[in-house]
Amino acid sequence: MRAFEAVNLYFQRAADQIELPDEMRELLMMAVREVQVQIPVDMDDGRLATFVGYRVQHNRARGPMKGGLRYHPEVDLDEVRSLASLMTWKTAVVNLPYGGAKGGVAVDARKLSVIELERVTRRFVDEIHDVIGPDTDIPAPDMGTDHRVMAWIMNQYGKYHGFNPGVVTGKPAEYYGIPGREEAPGRGVGLLTVKLLQRLKWKSKEATIAIQGFGTVGSHAAKFLHEAGCRVLAISDATGAYYRQEGIDVPGAIRYSLQHDHLLSGYPDAELITNAALLESDVDVLVPAAIGGVISAENAPRIKAPIIVEAANSPTQPEADDILVKGGKTVLPDVLANAGGVTVSYFEWAQNRQFYQWNLDRVRGELDRTLTSAFEEIWDLAREHKVTLRTAAFILGISRVARATELSGLA
Ligand code: GLU
Repeated sequence: MRAFEAVNLYFQRAADQIELPDEMRELLMMAVREVQVQIPVDMDDGRLATFVGYRVQHNRARGPMKGGLRYHPEVDLDEVRSLASLMTWKTAVVNLPYGGAKGGVAVDARKLSVIELERVTRRFVDEIHDVIGPDTDIPAPDMGTDHRVMAWIMNQYGKYHGFNPGVVTGKPAEYYGIPGREEAPGRGVGLLTVKLLQRLKWKSKEATIAIQGFGTVGSHAAKFLHEAGCRVLAISDATGAYYRQEGIDVPGAIRYSLQHDHLLSGYPDAELITNAALLESDVDVLVPAAIGGVISAENAPRIKAPIIVEAANSPTQPEADDILVKGGKTVLPDVLANAGGVTVSYFEWAQNRQFYQWNLDRVRGELDRTLTSAFEEIWDLAREHKVTLRTAAFILGISRVARATELSGLA
């Protein structure tokens, strides 16, 4: 099943629950605008490389469209479209005054020099500056992009439209960004995992965790859960997975990866296993925090963890989701689990408009409050409708977007 079809399947399940009329479903599933552009770039070796870039603006009923920019070789229109629609439901789930969008460039950012990365980014902005803006569509980091890329976007956009830091979020804290934005998605994952464990009457101090992916999201989730007293048994990245029965020394692993070009390759204090084995390891909580689609109908029956927390976007294919649910497992869905990132993006954007900056304590406090209240609402909705947390989250998101659409009127 393709990615956009998968999100729409979840959408339809929730829409059935609230008996959403067909014409509203049609309107809410379709993207408002889809842009595909050519990005020709001079490479360091004198070659001319041509990349393809996308920005899909999915829905603007609740405010300016919002969502990250992904640099990854497998980016295509279908994937960006699915991620854009996930952003619509995600921003509505945490009640931010935003719609949803997503962008991407089909490129392997790890193979680019810093200057090539900057050229790709600036050239991309040359092509899309007319469709983004602080009141229309606000990009942010995602896989393969970071605070440096966001700073270049702000600067390049400014060349066309004048200085306006609110055009993009996830900027460096000392350059119109906000403290705590980088840790936010991982912190949110950790915080919500602990909340879920409490609700399920589990002692978080005793919970064992496996985390797939040790990038910004995975490493910060590991840090939070380690500090909360959980035992992180396994971590992984593209170089392999690392398992330790007594628990990984998370601060040590983070230090190791920082010293080794953000990779865990050769990490000495654990047993080397495969990424596939990590997904199937005997732990209480599995946290997929890497790419999409890693839990499939093929490996889902072998997943042992009773709790799955979707730190990545769309890590579970729908057929796999059904298998997990039938097996009595609890899945905390992406639209809630990783919403910490866009929540702190919202704080950054709001502060940019006032030329003001909160400190880290304030950011963390407001983030925790926002995620906790979304969690409680979804938990109650799931009980009320007797549905999964995913369907409950979609019910909450869709209801809010449908209501805004009705209130604004169409004519
Ligand atoms: N890329 C992140 C996400 O998938 C953050 C988006 C944002 O901050 O706008 O939620």
